[in-house]
Amino acid sequence: MARYTGAVCRICRREGMKLFLKGDRCYTDKCSFARRGYAPGQHGQSRKKLSNYGIQLREKQKARKLYGIFEGQFRRYYEKAAHMKGITGENLLKLLEMRLDNVVYRIGFGGSRAEARQLVTHGHFLVNGKKVDIPSYQVSVGDVITVREKSRASEKFKVFAENPKTMPAWLQGSTENFEAKVVAEPTREDIDVPVNETLIVELYSK
Ligand code: SF4
Repeated sequence: MARYTGAVCRICRREGMKLFLKGDRCYTDKCSFARRGYAPGQHGQSRKKLSNYGIQLREKQKARKLYGIFEGQFRRYYEKAAHMKGITGENLLKLLEMRLDNVVYRIGFGGSRAEARQLVTHGHFLVNGKKVDIPSYQVSVGDVITVREKSRASEKFKVFAENPKTMPAWLQGSTENFEAKVVAEPTREDIDVPVNETLIVELYSK
């Protein structure tokens, strides 16, 4: 499975905002964006006015990098979203939110989506009692995500259990019980990502 292996903090600096891609480090003074809040590279400190296309492109790149997805797969999400009932941009975000790696992150297993993705690929989770190790697996309403019995005793999962996060309303459960259920599809208000999905739709529908 392909994944981005470049310098993660450059992504935040390129997008001009903290995207919290590195878990705990993002909340410390080691955060690169806090120290150098300008774009990377030789011309990073010179201000450039973006064209409309540039603005749309940056918004798409931001969403793609937040969820850790490559271009081809991201476009496929867009195409699927465009064929669904409802508002395309919201459908797109909903599809991204309901990926198993993101759901695991939202439950509170993993300080970042990248860590949650790694936990999924290492086979720590069951969906409705069956092992699923595919980060892009799309969960459905009613699905129950549990931590595999064998993994629960590990130091990592003990830490997650002792430090529960507030879950969005569409998930119910707790890291202490190593389980959560998808009780609804996320609404736009539930999805707290700093992305203007309308710009992405404008870009792809050209
Ligand atoms: Fe972004 Fe986190 Fe790196 Fe800061 S530490 S630049 S928020 S990934």
